[in-house]
Formats: sequence, structure tokens, C-alpha cells
Amino acid sequence: PPKRLDGIDKNVWVEFVQLVLDTKAVNLGQGFPDFFPPDYVTKGLVDAAQNSGPLTNQYTRGFGHPRLIAAISKVYHKFLGRELDPAKEVLITVGAYGSLFCSIMGLVEHGDEVIIIEPYFDCYEPMVKMAGGTPVFIPLRLKDSGSNVLSSADFYLDPAELASKFTSKTKAIVVNTPNNPLGKVYRREELQMIADLCIKHDVVCISDEVYEHMTYNNTEHVRMATLPGMWERTITIGSAGKTFSVTGWKLGWSLGPSYLLKHLQTVHQNCIYTCPTPIQEAVARGFELEFSRMNSEECYFKALAEELKPKRDNMARILTEVGFKPVIPEGGYFMLAEISNMKVDLSSEDPDQPYDYKFVKWMTKNKGLATIPNSAFYSADHKPLAEKFIRFCFIKEDSTLAQAEKIIKDWK
Ligand code: PMP
Ligand code: GLN
Repeated sequence: PPKRLDGIDKNVWVEFVQLVLDTKAVNLGQGFPDFFPPDYVTKGLVDAAQNSGPLTNQYTRGFGHPRLIAAISKVYHKFLGRELDPAKEVLITVGAYGSLFCSIMGLVEHGDEVIIIEPYFDCYEPMVKMAGGTPVFIPLRLKDSGSNVLSSADFYLDPAELASKFTSKTKAIVVNTPNNPLGKVYRREELQMIADLCIKHDVVCISDEVYEHMTYNNTEHVRMATLPGMWERTITIGSAGKTFSVTGWKLGWSLGPSYLLKHLQTVHQNCIYTCPTPIQEAVARGFELEFSRMNSEECYFKALAEELKPKRDNMARILTEVGFKPVIPEGGYFMLAEISNMKVDLSSEDPDQPYDYKFVKWMTKNKGLATIPNSAFYSADHKPLAEKFIRFCFIKEDSTLAQAEKIIKDWK
């Protein structure tokens, strides 16, 4: 194999999705809803394929289907407070993965450093390595809030530590808010601190905002690209999978200034060229409808978070009852929980793994409940900071959460 694949052959999703298939465990692992998206979304796809002319089933414009880039530009005009040029400032990709890949391949050069904040969505690291870059990791630190309930807000970026990571080689920083797996939603001041460093060191910000609409208790999702001087150096990434609860549709987008976005387009045009047309047409219709009711409670952007809030609270209650210590997320649809109090015999598991890997495998096989180990979201050196937590996904039917509750209550 080529050198660029060194050390990236293992993948947490490959491993743990297979474990669920093998064990048929109740699945609170990989992040996806187990319920239908809104009816109009799936109907829109059928209608797109059947009733909007034969060409909707053929290739469309490479950088994005015209109706979709128009709809996204309209919606994000509102969110970003600036007009977007649909042709030059929007790129449609295969999922947010595609946007991350195009951003990193399009902007990172051999020898460049890319700052990644831990915990991070796992693919950032292998993508930077494949581009010939060097990931530079900085873990969020846990402050003692004095409360026995942990919150994702208790995890913070140390300003001096962050500043120390910027060097003359730093090309980019990847920020993920709301964060997967932690659920942290960065406050404006925290983003401003990152922005100041980006501007000072002439660094690009790759802002992964796929959970942009999922925040709780009125926590505001602040967009990096709206901070002064940041539009010019930010790629904002979104996902239809998250926004419309259709993760299997694998459609994402990158938004940014044309002088940066054109390099993402170069990557895209040469390795993907164009994304599925009916999916783009259906997502365009989704955005058009949501745009027309953006200020109403019915708007799916708001309605989904409302639907998730009781699931989040329920999950926290269930976990607390048996001795897990949940970290209440401010956003996203995952919840970390500390497992130190859960006394289990893990001697049957391969000892050469982080504690959380052993715990999750043991729980999946022996309790029939699947989750994801938190250390998958940390670099090799920092896994010890992470391995006392596992990640639960709560965007699930109440009946699925009830099954999980039963397993947890029968634990002892
Ligand atoms: N970024 C984050 C933070 C994610 O959680 C995900 C999960 N899928 C992705 C990117 C990739 O999204 P997509 O499925 O649209 O490729
Ligand atoms: N983003 C989802 C998660 O974190 C799915 C990731 C994946 O399947 N690669 O669970």
C-alpha cells in the first residue's frame, strides 16, 4: 500500500457497525435516526425521480444542481447575513465527508500543520494525513464545575494552550460545533478566540457545522463565518443527512469565499464530478419549504431539536439511574457518559485496546446494547484522556430508547 495509508487502516465505524450486525444489539452506536424523515422529504424524492422531467435522473451541474445551490444560497443568506454567489461560493458534495475531503485535499499541502480539537469527528485525522499534512491535536480540558452533573460546557479550550499550537506551518484548524461526540456548542467568545488566532497567523478555518440546527435550552449556534474577518478564511460545512434526518442520502455542502472554494471544486470535479441529481432536487425542495416557514415552529430545523430534547433528557435519566455519569450535551444528538462506576469484568476482551473499546465490545455482546467508544475521537497519545467515556446516540424512537432502558435497568 502507498505510504499515505500508513496507520489509517482501522476505522471505528467499520468495526462497530459490523459488531451490531453480528450481535443484533439495540443500536445506540452510529449516529442516525431510526425513524422516518418528514413525509414531504421522502415524497419529494419520489416526485423528483418521477415527475420533474427525465433529466432529473441524469447528471446535473458538477458543483451542484442549480435548484439546490439557489435554495442553499437563500437559506444561508439568512444564517450568514451575507449574500452568496451560488456558482462560486457553494459546492455540493457526497455528504459532509465529501466536503471535509475536498477542503483538506484542496487546501492542505505537504508539510502543513492542521490543528484538530479533541474530541473530533474521526475522519479529520486520516484526511489530513492523506493530504500529506501533520495533525496537531489539542484536547478540550474538563473544568470542575463543582456540580455532580457534567455538561458539555464544562469542556473548554485553554487559550494559552491553543495559542501554543499555532506555528508558521499551520495551514488550517478544524472546528466542529455543535461537537460530535461531546455535544459542546462553542460560545461566541470561544470562537472569537479561535478567529483571532486564525487572523493573526493567516490560517483557514474548516468549520464542521453539520448539527447546526440541533441545540437545546436556547443555546445559540454561532457560525464561525459570521465573525468579523472570518468569512474570507472559513469553509462552512453542512449535511442534508443531519438537517433532514436522511443520513443515507449522503449529501453535503461547503460554503466559502470563491478564492478558497475554487480549490475544493478542483478536487471535486476530478474525483466525484457530480452528486446524485434526484437527491439534490429533493433536498432543494426541502430547503425551499423550510425557508418559507423558517420562523414557524413547524420548520423542521426547529421541530427536530424540540423532538430531540425530551429524548436527550430521558437518556440522561436512564443512564444516571444505573451509575453511568452522563455529560449533558448542549447540542447534537450524542451523549457521552462516564463508565468508571460500572464495575464489569473485561478480561474476555483483547487487552491491547483502550478501556472504552473493551467496555463497548463487552456491553454490545453481553448486554445487547451498542454504543461507540469515546477514545475513537482522540489521537493515539490522548486516548487515556478519553477512555473512561462512551458515546450514546439518542436520535432514536422512544421504543428503542425504552429497550435500552430495560437493558440498563436489568444491568445488575
Ligand atoms: N461531521 C460530523 C461532525 C459528523 O458527525 C458527521 C457524521 N456523519 C459528518 C461530518 C459526516 O456527515 P455525512 O454523513 O453528511 O457525510
Ligand atoms: N456521524 C455519524 C456518527 O458519528 C456517522 C459516522 C459514520 O458512519 N462514519 O455516528
